[in-house]
Amino acid sequence: MIAFDFEYYKPSTIREAVDTYQPAYQSGKQAIFYSGGTEFITFARTNKKTADVVIDIKGIPECTALKIVGDELIIGAAVTLTTIVESKLFPLLSETVKRIADHTSRNKITIGGNLNSHFMYREGILPFLLADAHAKIAGKEKERVLPLKQLLNEGLGEGEFLVQIHVDHSYVNLPFSSIKRTRISTIGYPIVTVAALVKDQHIRTAFSGVCEFPFRLDAIEKILNDVSTAKEERIEQVIHHLPAPVVQDIHASAEYRKFVLKNVLTDTLEALEGTI
Ligand SMILES: Cc1cc2nc3c(=O)[nH]c(=O)nc-3n(C[C@H](O)[C@H](O)[C@H](O)COP(=O)(O)OP(=O)(O)OC[C@H]3O[C@@H](n4cnc5c(N)ncnc54)[C@H](O)[C@@H]3O)c2cc1C
Repeated sequence: MIAFDFEYYKPSTIREAVDTYQPAYQSGKQAIFYSGGTEFITFARTNKKTADVVIDIKGIPECTALKIVGDELIIGAAVTLTTIVESKLFPLLSETVKRIADHTSRNKITIGGNLNSHFMYREGILPFLLADAHAKIAGKEKERVLPLKQLLNEGLGEGEFLVQIHVDHSYVNLPFSSIKRTRISTIGYPIVTVAALVKDQHIRTAFSGVCEFPFRLDAIEKILNDVSTAKEERIEQVIHHLPAPVVQDIHASAEYRKFVLKNVLTDTLEALEGTI
């Protein structure tokens, strides 16, 4: 049971969604955008999150689109993980998100919800970072399109919501690897997830579970692609170039995470170096 009352809106256009948010915000109400709802409902039930106004974006056609237009794959923020897996339109993305949660949850969890999750993992973002994807965002002033990496660094502005992710179609069928290691079962939060893609003879890598945020770093890719150095040495160097301390929590110690990361990187390089 959710122990507080809230107003629920399901707009059918982007404008309507923005116009619902703004007056609520200006009158001091807490408004949130809602997609699959699994995270909001879980937190609301346990009083970890509250809202006066909930704006469900699933009625907005742009948010449920999943199609190729010209040279771009367009994925609406309200598309569920199951739909993405089954579409097979971007195999690296399908492979990565099919390891998020269980099948029943994936029927509800959306890619926009995963990318805007309060959890640190946000594994769905990894393929998009590797494919230099762009995010289409709507807000009070106007819609804007920006690199997804910039969105990851800067976050959304007040009253903005993610409408779509755009991927240049030339990326979707490149050689890839996506490896997730959990504590026990195949389902679960990652101790380490490494997604990788080969573009122009160069291995790109993106990480979840290692630090408190998902990331892709030029410095790490430079090290991993320097074939003049032995593989073991390159992997050891990566551990010294992580962007933040390695996570230590109930799922794994920092030392164990580093150990798993080294193994996953070895497997990733073995899988992809042969394609170069
Ligand atoms: C059983 C289970 C297992 C899980 N395992 C994993 C895992 O292994 N790896 C992983 O990465 N995640 C995992 N998750 C976390 C899950 O991906 C997130 O909780 C995700 O947010 C849920 O998506 P949703 O569409 O239901 O989000 P919602 O509950 O709709 O929204 C989540 C948050 O995002 C905001 N939001 C939603 N859509 C938008 C939008 N378009 N624009 C701006 N803000 C928006 C909401 O306001 C809210 O704050 C798991 C979740 C469950 C329930």
